[in-house]
Amino acid sequence: MAIKARVRVVALFLLVLFLAPVVNLTRLQVLRSEELFARPDNTRTLEDLSLRGSLLDRTGQPLAQSREGRRVYPLGPITGPLLGYMTGRLGAAGLEASLEARTAGYAVPRTPMQAWNLVARGERRGDDVVLTLDRDLQKLAWGLLEGSRGAVLVLDVPTGEILAVASRPSFDPATLEADWESLRVDPAAPLIERGTQGLYPPGSTFKILTMAGALADGRTSADEVFACTGSMDAGNFILHDNAVHGPVRLEEALVVSCNVTFATLGQRLGVEGLRRWMDEFGLLDELPLVPNAAAARPVHSGAPSAAAEAGIGQADLLLSPLAMARVAAALARGGVDLEPRLLRAQTRRGEETWRPAPPRARRVLPRAVAEEVGRAMTAAVARGTGRAAALSGVAVAGKTGTAENPHGAPHAWFVGYAPADKPEVAVAILLENAGGGGTHAAPLASHLLQEALSP
Ligand SMILES: [Zn+2]
Repeated sequence: MAIKARVRVVALFLLVLFLAPVVNLTRLQVLRSEELFARPDNTRTLEDLSLRGSLLDRTGQPLAQSREGRRVYPLGPITGPLLGYMTGRLGAAGLEASLEARTAGYAVPRTPMQAWNLVARGERRGDDVVLTLDRDLQKLAWGLLEGSRGAVLVLDVPTGEILAVASRPSFDPATLEADWESLRVDPAAPLIERGTQGLYPPGSTFKILTMAGALADGRTSADEVFACTGSMDAGNFILHDNAVHGPVRLEEALVVSCNVTFATLGQRLGVEGLRRWMDEFGLLDELPLVPNAAAARPVHSGAPSAAAEAGIGQADLLLSPLAMARVAAALARGGVDLEPRLLRAQTRRGEETWRPAPPRARRVLPRAVAEEVGRAMTAAVARGTGRAAALSGVAVAGKTGTAENPHGAPHAWFVGYAPADKPEVAVAILLENAGGGGTHAAPLASHLLQEALSP
């Protein structure tokens, strides 16, 4: 019995607007469109859905599976925007859509393995896909976002695997069809996965990249003392700082998040230098093992102030929580990047039928530079703007951000890793319009790291 229905295609628009951190200049606006939905020719039948393979977490626990011709999602809204959905009426979205070729059942085999399964076993069911997610950490990350709009992303430092990617608001896949009309038009965009696809101004969390790039390029040194008078000429306007920091060494400048210091380094690197460093960290790349992830947008503005503003994570540069977590993880590894991954393996009856090649380690920075930035991040949590992220008995390295944007309160950020001396996990937390990163995002990092590090 086949239920055929027209698949609806809807484009959602995630509007990311931002404003310079000073009052008298309005910056460029950026519109990001995100087409999350499947091809219009997708039509699914009960049989098709029954034969579909499962999506599993890293330990083999089901996250999406077929039951009586329907897809069911054991974690419900906790994995909503990431996994997406697959129904006869609405088609497929998210990972469900991206992994269709791996999980689809078959009447006609396309590979020798499928031919064997069909002939020898009479089996037409699609393969399962094992994700890198940790079910418990995913639940915890989602719980931390209660009452917020935003994302929490956790990376495993040794492997680059994504352990959690939580995004709120979300939707309940069990009532998706009934809720569709309201979800579709909800201005809070509950269908958007914010951790890997949301693009935001990074604000002061970007100072870790500015610092690393400026040190590696020889544009500054750990000993340089900057004279912060609380404001500076950014080119075509006066850029104001959050305080008058006076004479301040580079490390101390990160601890207190001095805008004058990092806007100055932005000017020395220039827009092109900052773009090159985003590229060095891999932020402009497509990620084959993180389906649907959005590449970062480097500065496009030609304003004289663009380099100074970009040095403090404003101007018109945009990136995802995943991108910032990737930068933190590279610093945690002493300057070595591993491409992030969400796909671990493809299996059939528990036996692997595909596994991606091991991640290739790529040196981005001299070790001494990564360690210098790491020391400053550790100090920022021990005694600076990131104090609320501290854990007892474990040193945390981190940087807060309070990213200006025209939708009201700034976006609150925290980016970091722990333990600082032997890193295991890197995290990025983004809360839309929540206010100061040190006040709102850093405390969540403390909870998250505590759980992520407990054996
Ligand atoms: Zn300052």
